[in-house]
Amino acid sequence: MAKKPGYTLTQAYEAVSRDYDVLVIGGGNAALCAAMTARESGASVLMLEKSPAEFRGGNSRHARSVRYAHATGNDHVTGSYGENEFLEDLLRATGGETNEELARLCIRESMNLGDWMKARGCVFQPALHGARQLARANAFFLGGGKALLNSYYAAAEHMGVAVVYGAAVQDLVLEDGRFKSAVFTVKGHEHKISARAVVVASGGFQANPDLLAAYWGKAAKNFLVRGTPYDTGEVFQILVNHGVKTIGDLRQGPCVAVDARAPAMDGGIVSRLDCLPFGIVVNKRARRFYDEGEDLWPLRFGLWGRLVAMEDDQAAYALIDSKSIALSMPSVFPPIQADSIAEMAEKLGLDPAELQKTVAAFNAAVQEGTFDPAALDSCRTQGLEPAKTHWARPLDTPPFYGYPLRPGITFTCHGVAVNAEARMFFGEKASPNMFAAGEIMAGTLLGKGYLAGFGMTIGSVFGRIAGREAGSYGNQH
Ligand SMILES: Cc1cc2nc3c(=O)[nH]c(=O)nc-3n(C[C@H](O)[C@H](O)[C@H](O)COP(=O)(O)OP(=O)(O)OC[C@H]3O[C@@H](n4cnc5c(N)ncnc54)[C@H](O)[C@@H]3O)c2cc1C
Repeated sequence: MAKKPGYTLTQAYEAVSRDYDVLVIGGGNAALCAAMTARESGASVLMLEKSPAEFRGGNSRHARSVRYAHATGNDHVTGSYGENEFLEDLLRATGGETNEELARLCIRESMNLGDWMKARGCVFQPALHGARQLARANAFFLGGGKALLNSYYAAAEHMGVAVVYGAAVQDLVLEDGRFKSAVFTVKGHEHKISARAVVVASGGFQANPDLLAAYWGKAAKNFLVRGTPYDTGEVFQILVNHGVKTIGDLRQGPCVAVDARAPAMDGGIVSRLDCLPFGIVVNKRARRFYDEGEDLWPLRFGLWGRLVAMEDDQAAYALIDSKSIALSMPSVFPPIQADSIAEMAEKLGLDPAELQKTVAAFNAAVQEGTFDPAALDSCRTQGLEPAKTHWARPLDTPPFYGYPLRPGITFTCHGVAVNAEARMFFGEKASPNMFAAGEIMAGTLLGKGYLAGFGMTIGSVFGRIAGREAGSYGNQH
């Protein structure tokens, strides 16, 4: 397989003194998929990961599952999930705000991705039980993203991909839309590395409060960052300064409602609250502001952080009653419990009279229906603004449970534009040797909204495309 000598992890420091065919910037899923693919094509590959080894893997180490197209079920997905259904789900989740050509490409290239992942060490857990669509569409990693990434790093090292940890890229040297070299620091020492091609897979800029504030204003100070503190967007900014074409709404990106008591960074999946569809959500004025039952949760959870971010002080409160407490995963922080709505209001710091009014109006608007937590059921409200269109049941069975919510930003979707070969653009001209994969180009496909498991699809598919193209360029030049 390897036609050129490779470099092991332990040799990485010596290795930075020489040139490479492909430089990969980043150390998450997209970077590893690109690095392994380029290396498998025979290219010599160096990966620069900003974090220390123990925190390697960016946001990817927090991920639980990947969504990919497949014709039949197997031990880790319950049935077929074809291209058309996948595309329909994506169009529904994004409200059609996606580059349909590249979305189709991404979905097609994800066909049987699970087999490719398994061949590089991924172990999936047995398929989820039940009729949930997620069990059919998404494969879950045994041990989570961290185990997946550990397997990938081991596979990459075995192939001869060189990795330097604690290596923060600070500058890029370009000439006429062509990558020449990168400047990076390790423990304060500056290094320069040349390569024939570069794949930028350095994530979004969600962990950079100044950049977030530039787009969100003072609201940004109330955001909690769910993932890695190392995705701070400096490589993206360097690319922008060099004139690389950008894409995506400055304020878009998956942002979920997390428990307000979660840590400011790196809280991971456990602080997400999935009970929202089964109760009501109110703002600081104790008023509802959005349809909690709009769609199945995997198609909507990525929207709720943004909705909370639009409310006063970026604060909201989820309320359920004892009928619904067992319907979603137990929360890491215990819910606030009360025997009446007025007591709940006191405990959450809301106006009791207002909250009672909101709950009474909601309860009065609930229509009879057949409750089904796993499907778009017939339980809805009538004559209420905003409506609750599914899973609407009166909040009438104490004890009541409440959670304070904050926007939990997952990743930003303002990034670089790419074509079907994952090449970045200068104006309308595609770069011959500069590629991007993962969160940094996700805005191409996620103009709005989010679809569970699609972050890993984008990184895997475009990582492999970028690795293939960069490897091929590196081999020929
Ligand atoms: C809590 C949480 C749960 C999630 N769950 C899922 C899920 O179940 N399924 C799913 O599909 N998606 C999930 N996601 C989203 C998913 O993790 C991301 O979309 C995906 O991992 C992005 O991969 P990436 O390689 O582009 O970025 P990352 O994995 O974030 O990698 C970026 C890398 O770039 C490095 N880097 C940054 N700046 C520099 C620099 N200057 N120099 C060198 N390196 C740099 C970082 O250290 C990091 O290693 C989740 C995200 C979070 C936060």
